[in-house]
Amino acid sequence: MSFPSHSDLENALFHCELCPLRKDAIGPTSYNGAPDSPLAIVGEGPGGVEDDYGVPLVGPSGQLLDKALGSVDITRDKVYTTNVIKCRPKNNRTPTVEEGVFCAERWLDEEMALVKPKVIIALGSVALKYLLAPDARITKDRGRWFETKYGIPAIATYHPAYLLRLTGKDLVKAKWEVFYDLKAAVEKCREAAPDYELKSPEPPDLLTLFSSRREERKQKRRMP
Ligand code: SF4
Repeated sequence: MSFPSHSDLENALFHCELCPLRKDAIGPTSYNGAPDSPLAIVGEGPGGVEDDYGVPLVGPSGQLLDKALGSVDITRDKVYTTNVIKCRPKNNRTPTVEEGVFCAERWLDEEMALVKPKVIIALGSVALKYLLAPDARITKDRGRWFETKYGIPAIATYHPAYLLRLTGKDLVKAKWEVFYDLKAAVEKCREAAPDYELKSPEPPDLLTLFSSRREERKQKRRMP
C-alpha cells in the first residue's frame, strides 16, 4: 500500500489493529517533527507517556534525547522522529524482532517512502536490528555507517532509555559515544542538505503541542 500524503498515512495508522500489540495500547502512535527534514530519527516503540500523547519520544527518554540533540545544534521540530513499532507493548517490555518487522513493514517503510530523509539515526537495538540486520548488536554496531534497504545511510546510537539506566563512568562513556554518533549524523546531513537548518530559535514544547491529542486519547481510554 502507498499513501499520497502524510495525513492519509496517519489516518490509516490510527485505525490499525493488525497485530496483538494493539489491544494493550491506547492506540498507535505516529510521528513528530518535520516531514520535509533530511534527518530522520527512528526509535524503538512507545512507552507510557508516548501512548498517552500518541507521539514518539516525548517522555523521559524524549527529554534526554532533546538534550543530546541540543548538544549538536538540533531541535526536535527540525527532524522527523518516529518508531519502528507504533503500539506500546504491555508493561513497557522491549518489542521482539518479529513484532518490529511486522509493524515496520506496514508503517515505517511507508513513512520513509514519503519523507525520503537523507540520513537516518537508529536509536537503540530494535531500530538497528530492523534497519541493519536481525543479528546486529548495538554495542558492536553503533557509531558506524550502514546502508538501509531504503538506500539511505544510517548510523545507530544508544537509545536514551538505555542511558537512563546507566550511572557513573558507564554513563559518561555512553553519553560521549552518543554525542559523537549524533555529530557524525549532523555532518553527513549538512553535506547532503547544506541549506537545511537543523535548529530553530525556540525548541518546541512537545507536551503542549500534542496536549489536545492526549485529551482525545484519554476519552478513548474511558470508552468501554
Ligand atoms: S503495533 Fe503496528 S501493526 Fe500492530 S496494531 Fe499497532 S500499528 Fe498495527
